[in-house]
Amino acid sequence: MNAKTIEDIGRKLSKAGKRLHEQGLVIGSSGNISARIPGTETFLIKPSGVRMGFLKPEELVLVNLEGKKVKGELDVSLETPMHAAIYRARGDVQAVVHTHPPTATAFGIAKMEVLPLQIEMFMRFPNGVPVVPFEAPGSKALAETVQKKIANCDALILENHGIVTVGSNIEAACDLNEMVEEAAKIQFIVTLLTGKDAVNLAELKQKFKTESTVK
Ligand SMILES: [Zn+2]
Repeated sequence: MNAKTIEDIGRKLSKAGKRLHEQGLVIGSSGNISARIPGTETFLIKPSGVRMGFLKPEELVLVNLEGKKVKGELDVSLETPMHAAIYRARGDVQAVVHTHPPTATAFGIAKMEVLPLQIEMFMRFPNGVPVVPFEAPGSKALAETVQKKIANCDALILENHGIVTVGSNIEAACDLNEMVEEAAKIQFIVTLLTGKDAVNLAELKQKFKTESTVK
């Protein structure tokens, strides 16, 4: 295992934590982020109880794909089973970001999916971002539920909890986190302006007519 690669990924995760905190997607020590160490069966994850915005690269914990600690002083994040389950299910995923952004989290509490009302959101998530049913944080049941759903969608809303996004690197996973929160804000404003029933996925697909050109 290349120590320099691990250091580089650690620095990127630390930077990503600062970004997520500054964007208001997490507060205090809530949320967790991780990134796979390429060519290995391991990933680096934020430790439990450490503030996301002040995460130091050397504090990160190295974990295997079963979620067991391989190296590190601190305890692993509570949601390590969920991160490990995602990496096992999706060989293409290199990073996972879990946050509690206020608007998208509120959608999860209201059991409302975030719809792709805006064209760029539609091109990335033509079917919107689904809500997965509540399971206790850190539980095997949550890991299994997310593992099944993440197979078809790079972003999920966790009922009464927060959101999860994945990407080919940590920056891409953070981009999607910001995108989902922004889309939730837009949808909230649109429903205030026009009413909840004015938002319709079938009509949107017809309008954008890009179904055949997007995944
Ligand atoms: Zn959480």
